[in-house]
Amino acid sequence: MLNHVVEEIKGDKTVNAVVLKNTKTGEIKEKKIDGVFMAIGHIPNTTVFKEQIKTDTDGYILTEAGTTKTNIPGVFACGDVQDKIYRQAITAAGTGCMAALDAEKFLEE
Ligand SMILES: Cc1cc2nc3c(=O)[nH]c(=O)nc-3n(C[C@H](O)[C@H](O)[C@H](O)COP(=O)(O)OP(=O)(O)OC[C@H]3O[C@@H](n4cnc5c(N)ncnc54)[C@H](O)[C@@H]3O)c2cc1C
Repeated sequence: MLNHVVEEIKGDKTVNAVVLKNTKTGEIKEKKIDGVFMAIGHIPNTTVFKEQIKTDTDGYILTEAGTTKTNIPGVFACGDVQDKIYRQAITAAGTGCMAALDAEKFLEE
């Protein structure tokens, strides 16, 4: 159902209905269902940095190609905040390692 958000999940011991809101018309309706799967969205949690660190139009932190360098020397970004393509645990861990090495090198220099 396009243009709908879940306003309420109903049920006692198990789910039996959801209250849906049409985001275009504001109409509220109840739909009987047996279960709910919650999917998490794709808005990177970078708002806190937006005044300082450069991001793309979707809010992902921009890093110099092949490194974890941001626009601020000594600040490195890794993981899901700078990756809009893969967003996996192993890629986040990999860029985390890159950021740690970049930070170590920065401190040494
Ligand atoms: C439902 C779901 C299923 C997934 N399934 C898979 C899968 O099967 N395989 C897979 O490889 N990947 C999966 N992923 C993706 C994987 O979880 C992420 O790619 C990975 O966790 C990203 O790691 P991260 O360290 O970049 O970010 P996160 O794991 O999100 O860590 C960010 C941390 O920063 C903290 N934080 C946020 N704001 C602040 C702040 N202001 N101050 C201090 N701390 C803050 C958060 O609390 C959090 O602990 C899944 C993700 C979701 C949501």
